[in-house]
Amino acid sequence: EAGELGAEIGWEVYAVGGFVRDILLGRPNLDLDLVVEGDGITFAKRFAAKLGGRVKAHSKFKTAVVILDDGQRVDVATARLEYYEYPAALPTVELSSIKMDLYRRDFTVNALALRINPGRYGQLVDFFGAERDIRNRTIRVLHSLSFVEDPTRILRAIRFERRFDFQIGGQTMRLIKNALGLKLFSKLSGTRVMHELQSIMNEGDPLACLLRMQELGIMEAIHPLLSLDRERIQILTELVKVHNWYKLLYLDPAVVPWKLYILGMTAGIKRDEIGQVTGRLHFTQKEERDFLHLRDMIGEALMKLMGWKEGHSRLSRLYKILHPIPVEGILFLMARSRKEYIRRNISQYLARLQYVDIEVNGKDLKNIGIEPGPIYTTILDRLMTAKIDGRAETRHDQLNLAK
Ligand code: ATP
Repeated sequence: EAGELGAEIGWEVYAVGGFVRDILLGRPNLDLDLVVEGDGITFAKRFAAKLGGRVKAHSKFKTAVVILDDGQRVDVATARLEYYEYPAALPTVELSSIKMDLYRRDFTVNALALRINPGRYGQLVDFFGAERDIRNRTIRVLHSLSFVEDPTRILRAIRFERRFDFQIGGQTMRLIKNALGLKLFSKLSGTRVMHELQSIMNEGDPLACLLRMQELGIMEAIHPLLSLDRERIQILTELVKVHNWYKLLYLDPAVVPWKLYILGMTAGIKRDEIGQVTGRLHFTQKEERDFLHLRDMIGEALMKLMGWKEGHSRLSRLYKILHPIPVEGILFLMARSRKEYIRRNISQYLARLQYVDIEVNGKDLKNIGIEPGPIYTTILDRLMTAKIDGRAETRHDQLNLAK
């Protein structure tokens, strides 16, 4: 449909980037990126009108996002317009503008375009040897200043390399080492580093990326305190296992991967030093507060869990230890527990205990003649404890106990 619309208006339209790369790799990818040799915003508006959907336009960048009624998002960009100032050379100009657009991209494998106008539908536009690099499973930059222009591409290179099990090409690797030698990372803003780290943690195998970063000295380059020692690698290995286990079994509550893995990446850092890391990564005040609070809660819970003995300690005690902690912290505790029975009971907490609710409320307490007041909280708390410990399973039991 986009191709047909392009033909109607008289603009060449291309699918580009990851979408095309993943077609060649035979991997699913639902994020469609289009580049229009014309005006991307006008195109997006007509596309949304044709298919049903809305448009968010960024006029400064001449880009737009179309959100179709079925939820599908299509990003539309404009191939550089300046080339249209030379109408006499139109055929080359048409090619040049998409070429310029692709040349600004990070790696050859992402610098592919697919014509979608009718007539030329499905024609691959490959100026930089992307098809060959995909065949040879190589990540290669388009020019030697690429990492100087944007050092976050180093993290992107690692991410794609590990995701597809590719190899960063020889020359590209030399350029990475060169960029690291020039300390380009220290000039990179915390926000951008954090953004790339978050993308890494959203990968299927974040640890593979982190290990590659460590090997290349990137962890150190981000902040010396982040260097991965054996202990952290071991914790991160466990975190990946626990996270995968959780993803298989549960959808809710959803784990925010970076909130989980940052705990492993910063394990062992003292409380008075952690500010250096959160500062470097440009955490917001709230992120920093939540993160510190989570670390404190985890520390406390680890101590308490050491004293919790299956068969001797009450389940309600476990509930009280775990209940205030967000899911990322609970998974971290699971990863850190050496004792099998602790892991098993935390798993029980996630499966069942965390959702336990009692069958009576304040109104019921009033009905049985208890004067309203702070005592209600205490009573309801105790009923909850009793229910978890199997001493008041039914509403009837709970009312009796309340009395
Ligand atoms: P993913 O499968 O992770 O979504 P993607 O290739 O679609 O991979 P995005 O981060 O969504 O990656 O970026 C979309 C496109 O924009 C990429 O294909 C790439 O060509 C380009 N791009 C993104 N970031 C950069 C960058 N830092 N420098 C150059 N080009 C970039």
